[in-house]
Amino acid sequence: MTFTRDKGIVYLVGAGPGDPGLITVRGLECLRSAEVVVYDYLANPRLLEALPEGCERIYAGKQANRHALAQDEINALLVEKCRQGKRVARLKGGDPFVFGRGGEEALALREAGLRFEVVPGVTAGVAAPAYAGIPVTHRGLTSTLAFVTGHEKPDKGSSDIDWEPLAKGFGTIVFYMGVGNLPMIAERLTAHGRPGSTPVAVVRWGTWPRQETVTGTLADIAEKAEAAGLKPPAVIVVGEVVALRERLNWFERRPLFGRRIVTTRSRAQAADLSRRLEELGAEAIEFPVIRTAPPEDPDPLRRAASEAGSYDWLVFTSVNGVDAFFEALRGQGLDARSLAGTGICAIGPATATRVEKHGLIVDLLPPKYVAESVAESFRALGAKERRGRDARDTAGETPPLQDGVSALQDETPALRDETLALRGLRILLPRADIARSFLPEALEEMGAEVTEVVAYRTALEEPENVEEIREGLRDGAISAVTFTSSSTVRNFVKLVGEDAVRDLSGEVCLASIGPETSRTLRQFTKGEIAEAAEYTIPGLVDLLTREFGARGT
Ligand code: SAH
Repeated sequence: MTFTRDKGIVYLVGAGPGDPGLITVRGLECLRSAEVVVYDYLANPRLLEALPEGCERIYAGKQANRHALAQDEINALLVEKCRQGKRVARLKGGDPFVFGRGGEEALALREAGLRFEVVPGVTAGVAAPAYAGIPVTHRGLTSTLAFVTGHEKPDKGSSDIDWEPLAKGFGTIVFYMGVGNLPMIAERLTAHGRPGSTPVAVVRWGTWPRQETVTGTLADIAEKAEAAGLKPPAVIVVGEVVALRERLNWFERRPLFGRRIVTTRSRAQAADLSRRLEELGAEAIEFPVIRTAPPEDPDPLRRAASEAGSYDWLVFTSVNGVDAFFEALRGQGLDARSLAGTGICAIGPATATRVEKHGLIVDLLPPKYVAESVAESFRALGAKERRGRDARDTAGETPPLQDGVSALQDETPALRDETLALRGLRILLPRADIARSFLPEALEEMGAEVTEVVAYRTALEEPENVEEIREGLRDGAISAVTFTSSSTVRNFVKLVGEDAVRDLSGEVCLASIGPETSRTLRQFTKGEIAEAAEYTIPGLVDLLTREFGARGT
């Protein structure tokens, strides 16, 4: 018993104000090794992704007046888990000791003779103003800063707050939990000598993509916040520093700020796109409508992998295709060495990067990331190789057998006909089950012998947030939906319903990665489709930035 007692420990971890990047390195370490987590309403649930598998998750709640657990129940819970010898992360919004009741929890553990450590966090009273462009102190404007609870009833007698020195003695005053009392707070400060013209900002959901800021003066802020329908959680910042926001507001000025953008890629692939959107200020809503699965019949891929070295070219059209192919190759007891004589073509930079991760250099990267461009590049390559050979023939040299193309072209008689530029080349095309037939057909027309093999299958995924998406499309809460392939379009329509897409309001931007995806979208909607100029994920993000930059806020 003593043994387990000694092992148990509670980390009182500050989660920061919302932006998941604002937890400390130490805080994240505590989450990564936790066996139990007890978390609050204001801690960003995204942080829970850091927890190890099997970690017990307990929600302790606390939305004003709606507590999942009362404070003494939370204290008792921490004591109990700690006694069981568990490593407990007690994850609290902001800083655990700033209006967080962390002190009470630490005392309860101390009284029970249990171990705890405190991991301070970035408190909302500093971070929310910072993200609203307000430095809480500023040379020349204020040299004092007060953190005050706005929760208690600020009427005379029952108040713990001495309003007079507060109103007169502090340059900047930050109120937590004060939204409900805003009229009284403004009135008290004015009554105790603070000028009605003092600038005030109320920052709601500071550092979250949904951050909202209302500014005014002590005289009119209550009315303005009411008109804006501002609710908790918000901090109230009073003081001259608020005026700096006009120049320093950076977060809310990012190009995609306030936009809710849906991604439809598979769960495994959405993260990169979400991160890019979020960096530009958007709220990314992951709605994975596809998932990749192994082919129903794995034999053709296995066979193709074991014979891959006998092909002149291997053409990859997607990251998934690359992964599936190399997995099959390994499954056959082979590795990249078996591809020594095979040329490698990749469509799109992401596909190329993935090929290179497997230790291979891409020989051909068509300038545009569509099948048409691949065919065109092969045509050009065929012509170039031939010209090279013709020149060498004239000089009486033997062409070096450096790659599949020159080797094979060498065996074929001189061709003047451009249309048969790829005659005799054997090309292996590992791809999705539902890929278009344009590319293989075009390559065959140029004389190549193309072997298509299903490397993976795209299946319908059924995400949990279908209702949220449907509603968001209806009421315009969603600003854009991104589509990265035809199958994302088809499955999206399947999930939200044809009506929802057909009758889309003009407010929702349908963003397509390229012409093929746009064509599929066109089958389902009469609305406007925005298409990326470069058919890549960064191209898609650029498109959204331009779209919303033009629309303004
Ligand atoms: N320990 C927390 C404060 C908890 S009290 C901290 O250090 O930040 C809860 C109050 O914090 C809310 O009522 C609100 O006033 C403030 N708050 C917490 N997160 C906030 C956020 N993201 N934006 C604005 N205010 C926030």
